[in-house]
Amino acid sequence: MNATQDTKDPQEPKEPSPEDFSKKLNEFFQSNFDSVQFFPFGETGEEEADGGADAADTTEDEAKKDGMEVIDSFDLLPSQVKAHLDRFVIRQDEAKKALSIAVCDHYNHAKLSRTAGTLGDEGFEFSKQNVILVGPTGVGKTYLVKHVAELIGVPFVKADATKFSETGYVGADVDDLVRELVNKADGNVELAEHGIIYIDEVDKIATSSSAGGRDVSGRGVQSTMLKLMEETEVPLRNPQDMQSQMQAMFEMSRGKGENKTAISTKHILFIVSGAFSGIEKIIERRTRPGSIGFGGADLSSAETASSEDLQLLAETQDFIDFGFEAEFIGRLPVRVFCQNLEPEDLFDIMKKSEGSLLKQYKYEFMAYGIEADFDDQAIRKIAEQAAEEKTGARGLLTVCEKLLRSFKFSLPGTSIQSLLIDDHLVGDPEKALDALLENATASVDTAFNRKLNQFRSTFSAEHGLTLSFTPDAIDWMASQVKQLEQRPQRWLENRFSELSFGLKLVQKSSGEKNFLLDRQAVEDPDRFVSNLIVKSYRETESVEGE
Ligand code: ADP
Repeated sequence: MNATQDTKDPQEPKEPSPEDFSKKLNEFFQSNFDSVQFFPFGETGEEEADGGADAADTTEDEAKKDGMEVIDSFDLLPSQVKAHLDRFVIRQDEAKKALSIAVCDHYNHAKLSRTAGTLGDEGFEFSKQNVILVGPTGVGKTYLVKHVAELIGVPFVKADATKFSETGYVGADVDDLVRELVNKADGNVELAEHGIIYIDEVDKIATSSSAGGRDVSGRGVQSTMLKLMEETEVPLRNPQDMQSQMQAMFEMSRGKGENKTAISTKHILFIVSGAFSGIEKIIERRTRPGSIGFGGADLSSAETASSEDLQLLAETQDFIDFGFEAEFIGRLPVRVFCQNLEPEDLFDIMKKSEGSLLKQYKYEFMAYGIEADFDDQAIRKIAEQAAEEKTGARGLLTVCEKLLRSFKFSLPGTSIQSLLIDDHLVGDPEKALDALLENATASVDTAFNRKLNQFRSTFSAEHGLTLSFTPDAIDWMASQVKQLEQRPQRWLENRFSELSFGLKLVQKSSGEKNFLLDRQAVEDPDRFVSNLIVKSYRETESVEGE
């Protein structure tokens, strides 16, 4: 079934069809396994057992229809898309606006042309709002596109333009990207045809070496990408890919994808991005008084303008001078600029973005039973250090990883159950860790501790309340469990089954969410809780378990 066999029989087609494939497989199964038969085209009783082929078809049709409802019922306004992006992406206001408009236009067009298609009215034509996103690394370009795709409910794939130039199979690779959309759309080709393809580092396929473009094959990649951005058909199956052949065969057997052998790129939205460093020099040359300009914007204070200000003046000709074919850049009519992130923005990313790293860290520590908290001063310091990395918001992860690595290593398995990441800790993490460990005791029974931490995590997730235990409380509980030969989890659940109800009452009156249980408390949880309730109602202020 490989190329050598093909050459033996010149009559045999080079690329087998799904039917050929199925026939060969059937022969193979029959000759190798006496009792096994291969029925790829639904000739078995399986469908009947499932309620018949019709029923299966109906569900599939419905699933397909569901997928396309995303487009058919698209009714978002640009301001709604931006409001969604605001929840996750800090700053980049102009980019968020421009992208929201481009995306709404695009999907309104797509919706209209689907309706027009059914009405048989083809009398209008749209030009696509493909987008070019300009901005340094780590400022949220990918993040923007990902959230837009998620909001609309269309598949989204990302690739680096540099990959295409590095392989010999320029065309095949770019086509794979389109096929990947089908995978992301769970095989729904129609939905894939309305997906978003995001290609990063597109500045690296510029051809003019003076502007930093490095690749001789850049022009080739540009024209391949151009074809996709215009309107073309990409074969649904990669002829060289065995797995996709098999998949096509099974899809045919289920009556799926029969009519579709190709994916049209007509309604796929293309978003390309890059840092385009150096383009500001081209713009400066054009806009500086006395230079050979191309008309357009005038920048009298060009000498003092920042590269960001200059980039905002980018025109088609600047991109051409940078090393792009006019046709290529012409297919990207929406130009969006993302700004550098200042320390203040990085602070906001940690504090306000719904995708903040803080959540991730809290979660990671909680898995070891440690409640981690960051105070504002610490976050400010982290943001300042991250800004020095010059990798945008990615710097935050770098700084946090370095800062907290030894804490993540040393604290689990000790008696420490909370960690406040404050100014001092960020200033001198080693000293802070030593101080913490000085007062910590090793966990007596690590197996029990693990179970206890699991119990605390679940309790925190279910009730929004954090339990901590003093070392002597832990010792006592571990010894009880051992003595009674009970499973720690069952013992903990029984012992603290009424706890959440009482603690929630305390939380209501005092606002307290963290409770420390000592040995007395774990020996008699009911008394512990009722004391707390009485105390909290009397004082109506913060109460910590004795
Ligand atoms: P790039 O601009 O290089 O595409 P990304 O969008 O991949 O950068 O950003 C990397 C990560 O940094 C994102 O996954 C996100 O968590 C965070 N991030 C970057 N920029 C922002 C921003 N403006 N607001 C919130 N988070 C951001």
